Amino acid sequence: MKAVIVERQSNINTLQVTELPIPKPASGELLINVQAAAVNRTDIVTREGQSGYATNPVLGVEIAGIVEQAEQETGFAPGDRVMGLVNGGGYAEYAVMPADRAIKIPAEYSFEQAAAVPEVFLTAYQTLYTIGRLQRHESVLIHAGASGVGTAAIQLARTLSQAKVIVTAGSQKKLDFCKDLGADVLINYKEQSFEEEVLRATDGKGVDLILDFVGADYWDKNLASIKKEGRWVLIGILGGVQVEKVNLFALMSKCVQLTGTLLTPRSDEYKAKLTGDFVRDVMPHMKKGEIKPIVDTVFPLAEAMEAQRHMEENRNIGKIVLGVGN
Ligand code: NAP
Repeated sequence: MKAVIVERQSNINTLQVTELPIPKPASGELLINVQAAAVNRTDIVTREGQSGYATNPVLGVEIAGIVEQAEQETGFAPGDRVMGLVNGGGYAEYAVMPADRAIKIPAEYSFEQAAAVPEVFLTAYQTLYTIGRLQRHESVLIHAGASGVGTAAIQLARTLSQAKVIVTAGSQKKLDFCKDLGADVLINYKEQSFEEEVLRATDGKGVDLILDFVGADYWDKNLASIKKEGRWVLIGILGGVQVEKVNLFALMSKCVQLTGTLLTPRSDEYKAKLTGDFVRDVMPHMKKGEIKPIVDTVFPLAEAMEAQRHMEENRNIGKIVLGVGN
């Protein structure tokens, strides 16, 4: 089968299509004929050799495809259309997936749309609800609103909780897209001081919950934007990992709950439970079309490197997908 692996070329790591044997499913796993995979920042970190947790030489943590082999006890059968998280190996013509993470694809979704679901929707669901405990009509600040995770989080927060959704993004085009998805307050972080806008939109109180993809650069501004006893979930470090000066008293006196999380290195059991909760709470809304996957661009598998560059240049709104089908 064709698969994409990392190759080092004169000091930079690039991606290459190679021929590899089709993986063999272990007990409880499905063998899937991959039709589409999607690109994530975790793949870029892996390509750069910095993740420390990737064990599969083939990149890619999410796929959509057709079940090729399944044990009867898994509840799946050859021919089923499924999407879900894999432990690496997604940028390939075949991949294995633990059956308790496979989600049946709604009939109206293409494989490209289905591949845009697992990583960002599970992350948004986990950070808004499992960790962030968002309640009905609360307020949430979602940075990088037009990102894959951001576009998923806006829809979930609006549809499941009727929350007041405040987003930041770096262009009017991205903010307009967020508005169409249901965001209430739109802040261009390149032109406006987001913490001032957040306080203005919340009667000076701040938001109940922050989904923070930026980290270090936004530390003080996030602290200014959060309500007393608010929850703050650190999901990304697009703005750096080192905060120069941390005022612990400010964190303490606001009684903020700050939680960090990373989905890829979580255990199989955690991912299976998260998938089950997601299927129960979110899939009915996806089947009704109230929540939808957002596909920015579909690149062929052979252009995986170009697809990652598109993401590194912050050009996408929603997901970048790799078309694999044969
Ligand atoms: P994405 O689609 O690639 O979008 C990221 C967007 O963030 C960019 O398009 C850019 O939009 C904005 N951005 C980039 N650098 C920025 C900076 N320094 N300051 C402010 N905004 C910046 O990303 P994604 O796949 O949705 O992932 C979003 C973040 O979540 C990433 O950091 C990713 O690593 C993280 N993530 C974490 C988990 C987890 O389990 N912890 C899981 C999935 C993803 P603008 O044009 O608006 O600036």
